[in-house]
Amino acid sequence: MIHRDCEDYLRRGLEVLGAKADIFLEEPDPVDGYQPEDNTCPHGVTYWALPTAEQREEWRLLETVRISIPEHVKAQIRKKKG
Ligand SMILES: [Zn+2]
Repeated sequence: MIHRDCEDYLRRGLEVLGAKADIFLEEPDPVDGYQPEDNTCPHGVTYWALPTAEQREEWRLLETVRISIPEHVKAQIRKKKG
């Protein structure tokens, strides 16, 4: 693998895991409570990944949906489990 491809390889790898991320060569500041995650490529270069603005918005919406499940529905879910 040639180093030129490393950044793209990391970006695509994260996307497969369900996270669209921006990649940085210097450690960025945390954003919206997300800590930058470091990954060192086989050539010894450290890349930093943070979820993109679009990705953060998608996760925020998922969180909103989860929280807005009505209480009586949650109770039914709990009953089925127990
Ligand atoms: Zn590399």
